[in-house]
Amino acid sequence: MPLAHIWRHRFKGDGFRWTLTRKAILDLLSRTSKHMSAQEIYDTLLKSYPGIGLSTIYRTLDLLSRMGLVNRLNIGEGKSRYEYRSGEEKAHHHFICTNCGKIIDYSGFLDEELDLVEKIEKNLARKYNFIVKDHNTDFYGLCKNCR
Ligand SMILES: [Zn+2]
Ligand SMILES: [Zn+2]
Repeated sequence: MPLAHIWRHRFKGDGFRWTLTRKAILDLLSRTSKHMSAQEIYDTLLKSYPGIGLSTIYRTLDLLSRMGLVNRLNIGEGKSRYEYRSGEEKAHHHFICTNCGKIIDYSGFLDEELDLVEKIEKNLARKYNFIVKDHNTDFYGLCKNCR
């Protein structure tokens, strides 16, 4: 099934309108391996969608991350970056360079990490009476060029 078809169903199912902007952003993010900021997404889409507004992009990205269709990454430069979150593709996490903002995907040790995190989540949930629904593991540091 084409992705756009799956997305459209997802939106309908969740009771949201399926709009051109929503499709355009998902299209863009699902085709790039980059982790893009709202501004970069705006700059890219502006060429094909001259009427698009930055605030619409922000709102759409909010919605898409709440729906779990994109991941929001906070990389400590005062803004978020976004990447498409595919259900099938193997998950990955990030090394984030705090100096230049470079983001490196990694997918090794994810099973080990998940085991450990699940154990921690269970204990913390009990201790703090909190229901954990998601977690996020990114490592911050300096990349090869910035060391
Ligand atoms: Zn760097
Ligand atoms: Zn990534």
